[in-house]
Formats: sequence, C-alpha cells, structure tokens
Amino acid sequence: MIRAETSVVAPPRAASETLLEVSGLVVDLPGRSGAVRVVDGVSFDIPAATTVGLIGESGSGKTMTANALIGLLPDDATLDGSLRWRGEELLQAKPARRRELRGHEIAMIFQDPLAALNPTQTIGRQVGEILRRSGSSRSAVRQRVVKLLDRAGIPEPAAKLGSFPHEFSGGMRQRAMIAMALAGSPSLLLADEPTTALDVTVQARILRLLRSIQEDSGLAMLLVSHDLRVMAHVAHQVVVMYAGRVAERGPTSSVLHTPAHPYTRALVDSVPAVRTKTALAHPLPGTPATPANRPGGCAFHPRCPLAQDRCRTEQPVLRAVAPDRWTACHFAEKVLDDRTA
Ligand code: SF4
Repeated sequence: MIRAETSVVAPPRAASETLLEVSGLVVDLPGRSGAVRVVDGVSFDIPAATTVGLIGESGSGKTMTANALIGLLPDDATLDGSLRWRGEELLQAKPARRRELRGHEIAMIFQDPLAALNPTQTIGRQVGEILRRSGSSRSAVRQRVVKLLDRAGIPEPAAKLGSFPHEFSGGMRQRAMIAMALAGSPSLLLADEPTTALDVTVQARILRLLRSIQEDSGLAMLLVSHDLRVMAHVAHQVVVMYAGRVAERGPTSSVLHTPAHPYTRALVDSVPAVRTKTALAHPLPGTPATPANRPGGCAFHPRCPLAQDRCRTEQPVLRAVAPDRWTACHFAEKVLDDRTA
C-alpha cells in the first residue's frame, strides 16, 4: 500500500519552460452510430522537469489523450485542437517529424512490457537500438546500455545484456523498458499505467525509481494512472479526467486535499490513505459515464450528490477557482468551502 500522506513529492526544479501545451484537444473515433468523441476539449501544460498525472476511471479518455500526444492513435481517428511541443504545432507535423520526436524527445513506457519488448531479441540489443541508429560505435553502445540498465536498477547489468525478456520478472522487464525509454535522452517520458500489472511491493520500487530518475535528470513525465495513490506519490500536478473531459486540474497536494470537483472528492474518498490514515473508504457511486454514453449537461450529474437542474442541461466550463486550480463544476466554490470548513 502506498501511503500518500507519508509521501511528499519534491517541487520541480526551478521551473520552467513549457514543453508541451495541450489546448482544446479533441479526438473522435468512428463508432457504430457515428463518431464518438473520446477526448473532448482537453487542455493542460507539461512544464519541463515536472510530473503531470492524468487520472480517471476506465473510459475517462486518459490513455487516448496520452496516445494522441505521441501519435499512437488508430489511423481512422480524427484530431482537432492544438498540441504544441516547444512551440511547434504537432497536429500539423509530418509523420516523419512525429516519428523523430518519438523515442528521442518523447519516450513512452507501457503497462505491459512483455507486449512492448521483442521476445526474440536480447535486452541489450533492444535497449541499444536507438543508440546504434544514431551511429555510436559498438563499444560505446555497450557501455551506455550497461549504464542505462544500472540506472534502471537492474543488478549486474553487464551480465544481463544477453538475456531475453522472458528470462526477466515483470518488475525487471519494466526496468528494461525504462532503460530503453531513457536511451534516447528524452525530455518527456509518457508512462501509461506503468505499475498496474505489478505486485504491490514491486509497484512501490518502480515508482521510487521513476521519481528518482525524474528528480535527478530533470525529465518531465506524463503519468497515466487510475490509482490516486500512485499520483500522490509521484505527480507534481494532476489532471482529473471524466468521460473524455477535464474535471479538475492543479497541484497534486492541493487537488487531493481540497478537491473542488465532486468527482475528485468521490475519488479521494474512495481511497482513505490519500487523505487520512483513519478515514473510511466510500466506494464511488454509480456507473462511470463513457464518451459513447456521455450524459448531457455535466457528464457527472447522474452520480453527483450536489447535482441540480442546471447540471442536467448546462455543461460546466473549466475555470479558475483558486490560484493554479481549474475546475469544471458549476458549484466548485461550494465544494471547496465544504472541504476546507
Ligand atoms: Fe455535480 Fe453539477 Fe458540479 Fe457536475 S456541475 S459536478 S453535476 S455539482
């Protein structure tokens, strides 16, 4: 169990150039009865040297958002809005430019390293792939791969160069994926549920590793997770998503300790360790809305204990409710007052 109240995420180093600006991002996928808007006007920034967490239940659009950033959506997806990487608009970038960014400036680690790693190639070969492509000599690649495996916490890294993925445990495979992602010296690491498939002890170790890599190297990270405890442990800022939209965003400790959106409040109350050691867990009420069955007005209204008539007809806009805090709820101030009272 990761106890968020005992975990303080150090503030990012003197900040901060904005690496990625996501602005009004829309992703439509074809569905049986027309296009389904799986990401609906999502906006947030990723500053350098900062970990931003994307959190939400299944169907919230968090993975689609991350995949859109790295250009890994299905061919029949339609995108709108803006994705600016260091000021360069990516939605208009040529596929070759997107590929160049991927793996070099922006790298990704996935939930299932076994699916992402090539079972027929040694770990050393896969981690060194990007270095070989850049023209480094054999011995330079070998040296660098050993260093990367060591940084990822793989014991006796030189002896592991010839190992195959199936010879590693789940945690070791995830470490190999992390080494592979770091090989291109990226500025941004996208980590999609990187610990979900691992047991709790290994999860905690991998999270500690990611946090220390982020702090030591000044890397920015976008962490996608459904687990609030993971966010509390690693993220400086959090973006809470619901039914393809941003419900709330802001500094992690402030959002988790004084939520301004009833959905965030319900998420926090469903995980007692996030707020206090003694509070009882209250399971999230109702069934999550998905982009395909998104209710009108505020998508959360069928589950919201504060819902009023206005919520059923009028979609709340994301607005500033406190310094650095943005919330899409008509009654955010009341939610904030209740929590701080
Ligand atoms: Fe609840 Fe209304 Fe706020 Fe939506 S807008 S979260 S339904 S109070």
